[in-house]
Parts: sequence; C-alpha cells; structure tokens
Amino acid sequence: MEDYSRNDLISVVLPVFNEELGITNTIETLEKYVQSQPEDYELIFVNDGSKDKSPALIEQAQKKYDNIKFVQFSRNFGHQLAITAGIRYTKGDAVVVMDADLQDPPTVIPKMVEKWREGYQVVYGKRKARDGETFFKKFTAKMFYRILDSMAKIHIPVDTGDFRLMDRQVVNVLDQMNEAEPFVRGMVSWVGFKQGAVLYERHARNAGKTKYTLPKMMRLAMDGITSFSDAPLKLANVLGATSMILGVLYFLITLFTGFSTLTFAVFLMLFLSGCIMITIGIVGYYLFRVFEESKKRPLYIVAKTSGFENNNHPEV
Ligand code: UDP
Ligand code: MG
Repeated sequence: MEDYSRNDLISVVLPVFNEELGITNTIETLEKYVQSQPEDYELIFVNDGSKDKSPALIEQAQKKYDNIKFVQFSRNFGHQLAITAGIRYTKGDAVVVMDADLQDPPTVIPKMVEKWREGYQVVYGKRKARDGETFFKKFTAKMFYRILDSMAKIHIPVDTGDFRLMDRQVVNVLDQMNEAEPFVRGMVSWVGFKQGAVLYERHARNAGKTKYTLPKMMRLAMDGITSFSDAPLKLANVLGATSMILGVLYFLITLFTGFSTLTFAVFLMLFLSGCIMITIGIVGYYLFRVFEESKKRPLYIVAKTSGFENNNHPEV
C-alpha cells in the first residue's frame, strides 16, 4: 500500500483553564502517544487566563518537545473562544479539538484520522459512556442535547461535545465565522460537508475539578439554543394563546355559573404577568446577542504566543 500518511500534519488544539494538577500528565501521555503515530503532530495549547501554574508548566514542556505551540489570552474568555482561537493558529491538514484533562482519550484520534481518510471532513466523538461525572451533569447534558437538536433548524448530533476532528477545508470556513459568542459544535454542524461519528467512552478527568460551573453550563446552553433556533420566540405566541384561551374559559364559567372568586383573579394576574416577563426575557436575550455582535470587539485578546518561531502564523 502506498504510504501517503507520512506527510499529513495533524494539529491538536487543547484549551486550558487552571489545569495545573493534570496538565503535565496530559502532555506526557499525549506526546508519548502521538509520537507512536505515523503522522506528524503539533499540539496547540491555549491558556484561557489560568490563574495557576499551568502556563509555566506548558512552557516547561516546550523545552522538552518542539511540537508544542502556545497561545495565551489576556484573561479568561471561555472554552468556546479558546477553541476558536486555537484552531486559527493551526497548520495541520486536519485539526483535532480535545479537553486538556484527558477526558477525551488520545487513542480515539487514530480512529478519527482513519475516518477522515475515508472521506469524512468532520469526525465527531460521540460519547457512549461518561465516567466520573455527576448524575446531575449527565442528566442535564442529555436533556440539553435532545432539546437543542429538536429546536435547531440544523441537525446537531446528540451526546457530542467539542472532541472532534475537522478537515482543513472545514477549519478554513470556521476561521471566517467571527461570532462573539460562538457555540462551536453547532457551527461545525452548520458548515455541512460529510460528517460522521466515532463512538468512545469518555473518561473521568485525570485531575482537578470540572471548569464548567453551573452558570457557565447554562450560558453555553443559552448560546447554543439562541444561535441555532428561534423556537423560544415562538413560545411567546404559545403563552399568549394559552392565556387567551384561559381568559375565555373564565369568562364562560362566570357567565353560566356565576363563579367568581378573588383567588382566581389573583391566579390570572400572576399567570399573565409571568407570561409577559418570560417573553420579555426571551426577546431580551436575543437582543443582547445582537448587541454583543454589533460591538465588533475582537473576540479575544492574545497576550503572548510561543513555539511558532518556525512557522508563519496569524499575529492577532
Ligand atoms: N476550559 C477553558 N476555559 C474555561 C473553562 C474550561 O479553556 O473557561 C477548558 C478546560 O481547561 C478543559 C476544557 O476547556 O480543557 C473543557 O472544560 P472541562 O473539562 O472543565 O469541562 P467538562 O469536560 O467537565 O465538561
Ligand atoms: Mg473535561
């Protein structure tokens, strides 16, 4: 068989936020693994404003391995923007995005590469099991993926996170999508091309705690839904129609039975003002997102890069 794989460069993007407890282990494990692979690999770490020793540990590893590239944000901009920045710095024929905590096992990468060679431009990791995560996290995640997929106009595969391989062609399109509040996995689905899944078991973190706090998770869910669906806006119509019907029913009941109590009036008042508030909140969030986009600020600020000396790379 012809050996065309030698020349392929695979870029691995790893966002890092306060991962000092596990980062060295991640680097050692990943380096050992990718060096046993036939392709060339570059590892691109993005420091998303860590307040611990993780940047120093990554710089230390750069002295040992010459394929480690490092992009450092001026502060914490969030996981999705760290991924967005990381892939802009890649040079590979294919780009893999993975967690810096080894929850996404490196052994899945060759399976993704194999599928990529079969002609898939996006190969996403689909979780068949999740170790070491709380029932609450698993339950809310499961619900979220299903609600999102049912609401969104495009098909967003369920139970997939950001662990995936993307062909250069797809990465080039993503690079042009300058969204202030990106929901990367949705954007990758939106792009199209031939997409396929590789099943894997998601491990527990190698160290430390999840950096996705409940507010961050909720924010991601809101961004995912509002970026890809107008279903919440339709909810306003449903609420309006429901309260109208209830109003008519109440009128009829009063007409025929003379039934009229203060309690029911209070109920109606609360119900209606609840509907109005929810609707304003929903419209407000869409408006907020329009505002975020219209500011045209840079998506993130890079304070420092290193390890790119031998390459041309964007100086953003
Ligand atoms: N992360 C980040 N910025 C953040 C939160 C998380 O760069 O604001 C990184 C984190 O270091 C990890 C990845 O994004 O490499 C996914 O986060 P985490 O593992 O905490 O999420 P989980 O796997 O628990 O959903
Ligand atoms: Mg993780």
